[in-house]
Amino acid sequence: MPRTSAKRLSLRAICISVVTFTTVAVTAGVAWAAYTDNMYPTQYLTVGCFSISGPSGPGFCQTDNSDLTYYMDSGGSNMLESGDRTVVHNVMNNIYEPTDLSVTYDSTPSFSGSAETDIVYEESAVGLSSTADGATFCNNAATTLKCDQQYIRIRGGGHYRQGLTCHETGHAVGLTHGQDASPRKSNTDEKLGCMEKPTDADEGLQANNIENINATY
Ligand SMILES: [Zn+2]
Repeated sequence: MPRTSAKRLSLRAICISVVTFTTVAVTAGVAWAAYTDNMYPTQYLTVGCFSISGPSGPGFCQTDNSDLTYYMDSGGSNMLESGDRTVVHNVMNNIYEPTDLSVTYDSTPSFSGSAETDIVYEESAVGLSSTADGATFCNNAATTLKCDQQYIRIRGGGHYRQGLTCHETGHAVGLTHGQDASPRKSNTDEKLGCMEKPTDADEGLQANNIENINATY
């Protein structure tokens, strides 16, 4: 679809600051009666999908297709501990797999080529703003809309909870905050499920997010 080449605004892929957009000519959007369209791009969020090396860069993306593979960093300083791994597996198996996405753990991840593992989870605070407990960024954009591989970075110290993992995974498949949805909603609207910001610890997707995912993938 034709897309606006948006300015490289330095927002988040993420959960940090609210950005005001002045341009908007989006042909995307979903023609069905969901509560709100919070699948990127929306009328209010058109920043573009870029390959970046850390969470402070610009961009917002969908994942590249409905086969959603994921990996958890299993060694070194960004490794997820056992309890964190259980949380991520539960979110993927119990919250995302029931959608139209087909979710698979990739124990032999790919970090190059055209079929990289879609989401890599890390436990790290590197590059996170002081007010964010997690972030999502694309390190290999497939198009200006879709990303071949996204990183989810969540702080240590017990921040790998269901709600935040669901939230950042939502960003990785294209879900936005309420303020970027069309029509706009409060970031704390309960109907946004785990895409609420701030995010409740035990939140799941809820109907609106599921409808947006299934209409896209
Ligand atoms: Zn967020």
